[in-house]
Amino acid sequence: MDTLVRGGTVVLESGRLRADVLIRGSRVAGLLDPRESAGFKARVIDASDLLVLPGGVDVHTHIGIQFGDFKTRDDFGSATRAAAFGGTTSLLEFAFPEPGEDPAEAVERRISQASGQAVIDFGFHAAIAQHADADALAGIERAAKLGAPTVKVFTAYRGIMMLELGDVMAVMREAAKARSLVMVHAETEAIVERAVGELRERGIADARHHPQARPGIAELDAARSVLRLAAETGAAVYLVHVTLPEVAEEIARARADGVRAYGETCPHYLFLDESVYSTPHGERFVCSPPMRSAAAARGLWRTLGTSLTGVHSDHCCFDSEQKKVYASDSTRIPPGLPGVETRMPLLISAALSGRLSMPDVVRLCSSEPARLFGMQGKGSLLPGMDADLIVVDPRARHRLDGLHMATDYTPFAGMEIRGRIETVVAGGKVLVSAGRWVGEKPAGRYIRRRRLEA
Ligand SMILES: [Zn+2]
Repeated sequence: MDTLVRGGTVVLESGRLRADVLIRGSRVAGLLDPRESAGFKARVIDASDLLVLPGGVDVHTHIGIQFGDFKTRDDFGSATRAAAFGGTTSLLEFAFPEPGEDPAEAVERRISQASGQAVIDFGFHAAIAQHADADALAGIERAAKLGAPTVKVFTAYRGIMMLELGDVMAVMREAAKARSLVMVHAETEAIVERAVGELRERGIADARHHPQARPGIAELDAARSVLRLAAETGAAVYLVHVTLPEVAEEIARARADGVRAYGETCPHYLFLDESVYSTPHGERFVCSPPMRSAAAARGLWRTLGTSLTGVHSDHCCFDSEQKKVYASDSTRIPPGLPGVETRMPLLISAALSGRLSMPDVVRLCSSEPARLFGMQGKGSLLPGMDADLIVVDPRARHRLDGLHMATDYTPFAGMEIRGRIETVVAGGKVLVSAGRWVGEKPAGRYIRRRRLEA
């Protein structure tokens, strides 16, 4: 039987319209004039006085990964369920190669891990860590053939992830040929190492001083280098977790010069600032790069939708026990914050408070990432698209508690949230109804993504 989401206001990136959404199978079959759909025989989801948005697309999560002594507390089952509760109906995860694996083999291994567990659709980014040898470079094309036309590299984390700039450039040359997007964690390791060394000498390399350990200049310096290498090689480049408006401006400048340069930021860089490190549990906020000044956070808001085209979670699900073990040495605290469930509620709340428009939220969290990352069927509710949608009550107010991520804290505890996600539909199936889980067995499918346009 068809499903009809009736009586709501549909929000697309282009604007709002009063329409009923007709779902047939796993797709949107039509956006109907409410008068037209009156006599329709269908299962009805009542969206009267509510907003209907395309489901969120989160292109930056870390699920079930190891960092040093610590493994994140979640797996594809729990993380995608939490994502769905938070209005995200598809996500892109990373496939870091294990010793002896090339990037494409890592993608295949991760696909089989997620299959049968994920409750929403998922895809993977290839990744190259430490050395860009011939096998790794050849893996970029092989991964693209598997539907993973993106490759992640790091200029930071020496001995774990870091590539030297020469290797980054080699990756870019191959990626340009394969029409893959190069995603870069940009922080200059040498600047971080120097800063950490100085803090250690003074005996204060703890969570409280985390912002000084990874100063803004490290991010700005690496971003500039990487953007220049992209100009040189013709690669398309995407800077993950941008924390500074100055870096966003560098991206905009590169784009004006003809470089295919893009960037995202994350909710924690918009809604929090470095003062969190002086709170009693500063270690819970340790992530790389760190939160910056309140002025930088305000500046970032102004770059949304122009120089930065996405807001993604960088979800990393450690719990407060794991964060606490090395609180006195910020370099050993497992970095990253849980956030796959809180991204959409925070952005929707910001829109309802007038900080941006609701179509902006759709564009930043759904439509633009779906386009850039080649996710056909995602990011819109036009006929023929996947029936991934959320129904939001714009009048509800609540606090971020009772979350479903496999951890015991949220960095956004106590924040008042406007709007509540009442219903979540993924692939035509209702997963959440009246805020309760009603999904059946995991039906998330692997998203075979398209390469960049030539
Ligand atoms: Zn990340």
